[in-house]
Amino acid sequence: MSTEKKECEFCKLLKNNYFKKENRFITENKSCIAVLDHNPQRKGHVLVILKNHKKDLSDKDLSNEELKSFIGMIHKMCKCLKGRMRDENQKSPDKIYVSSLCDGTKHLHAHLVPRYPYTTEDKEFYKKLYPGKKIQPGFWYLCLGENKCKNLRDRDKKYCIEKMKDC
Ligand SMILES: [Zn+2]
Repeated sequence: MSTEKKECEFCKLLKNNYFKKENRFITENKSCIAVLDHNPQRKGHVLVILKNHKKDLSDKDLSNEELKSFIGMIHKMCKCLKGRMRDENQKSPDKIYVSSLCDGTKHLHAHLVPRYPYTTEDKEFYKKLYPGKKIQPGFWYLCLGENKCKNLRDRDKKYCIEKMKDC
């Protein structure tokens, strides 16, 4: 086993079945697992993680089967999030952002972040950050204060797991 793989956080967690024990598990296929992010930016923030250790999408050892499985799982989760998740005002996400940075944990995974319509609170927050700037839709990372994120972790975890069941 390479040193890189041995020290990889996701490899360790996958090996110990952590994601299944921790009640964040949504679903899996042969090559990937889908779980709730432990530090959600938005309600329904999902991680799709490749089971085998590959650095990122450009990894030369990533097989076609793994790639298909990874993209397929992202697609499935996006449809499921859009169809089933609702914000506090019972609004569906406008869209689902997908990003695969693999900077912090260098093991192929993607973040799926639902973007819900703006709330009044979001608008006020944006105005404070960018005084005088026209409010644009989007910018999910601006739309939640730290406290709101903390609340999401516990309060909405059960809701999300329930909603995403049997996707
Ligand atoms: Zn790994």
